[in-house]
Amino acid sequence: MTAGIERAAHAYCRVCHPDPGLGEPVTALCGATHPYWGRRERPVNNCPACAAVVARAEYPCGHTSAER
Ligand SMILES: [Zn+2]
Ligand SMILES: [Zn+2]
Repeated sequence: MTAGIERAAHAYCRVCHPDPGLGEPVTALCGATHPYWGRRERPVNNCPACAAVVARAEYPCGHTSAER
């Protein structure tokens, strides 16, 4: 399954998803939605779309990376 890499590579808004439950659908910063199965300590690669959003420090949902 490629879902393991996918969920590790995407970044999420900590305000919208402060503590997602296992298997709970969450929307990544790039807009991709898939079940959350925890974080990987060493992601194989990063979603370029998510990385671009994080670099701007302003999320599509209106939150910012500095907001907790
Ligand atoms: Zn992404
Ligand atoms: Zn948000």
